[in-house]
Formats: sequence, structure tokens, C-alpha cells
Amino acid sequence: MPATPAPDFAGAPAVVLRGGTVLTMDDRRTVLTDADVLVVGQRIEAVGPGLEVPEGTVEVDATGGIVMPGMVDTHRHMWQTAVRGYGADWTLTQYFVWNYLEHGKKFRPQDIYAGNLLSGLEALEAGVTTSVDWSHNLHTVDHADAAVDALEEVPGRFVFAYGNIQAGPWEWSASPEFRDFVERRMTRSDMLGFQMAFDVTGDPEFPEKAAFEVARELGVPVTTHAGVWGATNDNGIRLMHEHGFMTPETVYVHAATLSDDSYQRIAATGGHASVAAESEASCGQGYPSSWSLRRHGIPISLSMDTSVWMSADIFSAMRSTLSADRTREHHEAHAGDETVTHLSVRAADVVEWATRGGARALGLDDVTGSIEVGKKADVVLVKNDSSPVMFPVLNPYGHVVMQAQRGDVHTVLVDGRVVKHEHKLVGADLVKARRAIEDTVSYLQDTLGAEEWAAGMSPDVPESKVLDNPYTYTEYADASTHSSHAG
Ligand SMILES: [Zn+2]
Repeated sequence: MPATPAPDFAGAPAVVLRGGTVLTMDDRRTVLTDADVLVVGQRIEAVGPGLEVPEGTVEVDATGGIVMPGMVDTHRHMWQTAVRGYGADWTLTQYFVWNYLEHGKKFRPQDIYAGNLLSGLEALEAGVTTSVDWSHNLHTVDHADAAVDALEEVPGRFVFAYGNIQAGPWEWSASPEFRDFVERRMTRSDMLGFQMAFDVTGDPEFPEKAAFEVARELGVPVTTHAGVWGATNDNGIRLMHEHGFMTPETVYVHAATLSDDSYQRIAATGGHASVAAESEASCGQGYPSSWSLRRHGIPISLSMDTSVWMSADIFSAMRSTLSADRTREHHEAHAGDETVTHLSVRAADVVEWATRGGARALGLDDVTGSIEVGKKADVVLVKNDSSPVMFPVLNPYGHVVMQAQRGDVHTVLVDGRVVKHEHKLVGADLVKARRAIEDTVSYLQDTLGAEEWAAGMSPDVPESKVLDNPYTYTEYADASTHSSHAG
């Protein structure tokens, strides 16, 4: 860490990142080497080599680094960050039981606040400049106020997706308190957007219709967990489509276990998918869907889902999505006795899904998602001079996806403001976040009791058996022991 104090970003008229490899993610995917990005106020003022800058501009040395658009996470249950890592060994079923049936109701407004505050800071630290807070534990409006209070304290770009797993969406969306909240808090700037978050169970009565009507009346996009094994399926998609509630603004989270017919309905209505590959692989929502989505021309964005499993690390999402997509491609080919000689999905594609794909899914494509003059300055510098992994940078897209990680995020700007510099958050009150989280964790531990708390983290392991093997090298273990002695 440098001994010199951080530059006075707040007092500077402009910031320039000098001499980096710039992944603009513009329509032509222009990559510039040894180029500068000049930020004046909230916006990107110029991009190119050897830029002249206004007097007093603070310079950030980007040489040897990669400058890319801020990443976008289109689905994260930020409140659950309070129990970070708790469910590392959970399946989706165990997640549902713990959060939906048993303990979600115990979360107080201050617990939602604590999770959101930490989660928001964590996202910035990882270079995720826009996050959808898929906030589905708002069992009172006080909880919603607490969630938004936290988002407003963090200098990131957020979309607040209002939800409540403790009641039917047709119930909470019809309440006067919800209407009042929308009026008071959801002013819908490009720093704090608004969605409604609920799932469609496939009940032929389609009770969710009333919530869709509220969303339509308010002009609010709906985000919905669709194609989740054992939870939501083709019936939900069909009902939404038949009632005219599938729009280009709709975001389908996971979209994993769906038929071609459902994918065709999504594609035909212009909707976007949010792929949370690590979550899907670990928890069982279905095989990560990018391979299927690509076949149907459905636009893709990425997400982390919840820090109860994985942190807000979109580098990890890019790598696992690419890996899952290619696994599927090879696997399908091998099943037909064929060999994939050329890969369909490139590193550049997943970088696009992580940036511009997210911006498009959220209707923010004219605001963020690429480094182009006139857009708001959500910019990430990936650079780490003390890491042997950060040179040589030969294939910058490949480097971002396959080599870099969140610790290599050197500088982050959101809306033109420097929120991380020299690998450290700027002006973030981590002490306050830590205190809030510690209060929540000890409250939950006390409320659940030590035994229940420990058991929740350690689900039973199912019985498994090693297959019978006709070749029994019973002497093998002994032989190896002896040979090591012989040495
Ligand atoms: Zn989710």
C-alpha cells in the first residue's frame, strides 16, 4: 500500500485513467491499447491516446492494467449478506426451508439494513457498479425503508426489486403501505431504479395476475425466478404470456429448467435472462442456461444470487458461466460422437454479458455498461502490479475472465465518483457496516439458539457408497507403504 495519501478526488474537476488497455464494450467491441479515459463530472468526456485534460485533473496510472465498464449484477438478495457463507453446503431446498419457512420472518428492519449495507460495499469493492437488490424479505414496509436507507448510503448504482416471500404478491402489491412506499421512496433516478420481484407458481388460477397489473399500472418492470427446478416451470411462463405480461423489460432469473416453447415465448417478447451459474450449479435450479438461451437468441445478463453461498464477485460469474456453457457444448457433441473443434462462446461474450448485457436487461443501456463518450462514468481498472498473474496481458478479454479476480480491482468509479482506489474503498464506513452485521449475527444466534444455528450450517450428508470394483488390489496400500519405507 502506498505511503502517500489518496489524491483529493472530491476536490478535483476531473479524473483521467492513463495508459491502460481499454475494453470499451461499444457496439464494435473496440479495444484500445495505451489509451486514456477522461471523466468529467458524472460522465465520460473522452476516450483515446494521449488525451489533454483540464487543469487539476487527478491522474490514475492505468499502465499494465485493463480498463473496463463497471460490472452489472442483475439479481442478488442483498439482505442475505448478513449471513454470508452460512449456506455454503445448502441445496436450494435447504435454502427455501431456512429462509422462507423457518427464519426469514425473524429478520428485523435493521437486519435487512445491515445485509444491504455490507452487500453494497462488497459489490463496489469487486468492481460491480450496478446491482439489483432482489429484496424478497420485506414483510413490512419498515423493512423496505431500511433496505433503501442502506442502498442510499452506498455510492453505487442500484435497482431496488421489491418483494416479499412471506405473502402472496397479489397481497403485498395491493396494500396501501406499498403504494405509499413507492410514492415516498421510488423516485427512480438512474442511481436507484425500481422493479417488482415475485415468482409465478403456475397455479392455473394465476393469482399473480393482480401483481402484474399493479406493475403495469406503476410502469415497473417485473423480475421473476423462472425455470427453477421444483419451484417454477413452463406453466408460469405460459400464464404470463397468455395474459400479456411478458414484456421486453421482464427479467427471467435462472431460466434454467424450461422447454423450447417457454424460451420461444421469452425470445418473442424481448425479455432478458439473468444467469447465476454458480448458484445453479451448486444448488440445483437447473443447468446454467446460457447454452439454451443462446440457441433461442435471448439476451443474457449475469448474477450472483446471494452471498449466503457466493460473494458478489462477477469475475467468478464470468468464469463459471463460460465454463458451464462450454461444458454443455462439449457434452452435447460427445453424446453425438462428435468433437467440438471451435468454441462458440468467447471470453469477450461473457465480458459483454457482465457489463452491457446487464445494463440492457435493466433498461440502463444509455446510462452504463460501456466506456463511451457521454455515458455515465461507471469504470473499473483491473491492475495489480504486485501480482504475478497480471502480466503479460496478451488477450485482455481472456485475462479478465480467466486470470483476474476481485482482488485485482484497483480503481472503481461510479457515476464519475472514485469509490475505490489503490485496492481500497474510498470513504466507506466499514466499521459501521461491521457493527451492524455483528448485531444481526448475534441476534440471529440468540434467537435460533446455539444448536439450531450450528445445525443450519451443517445439513446431513446423504449416504453414499463407492461402487463395487471387480479389480481388487488389496495389496496396494501395503505395497505403497513398504516402498516409501524402502526410500
Ligand atoms: Zn434468487
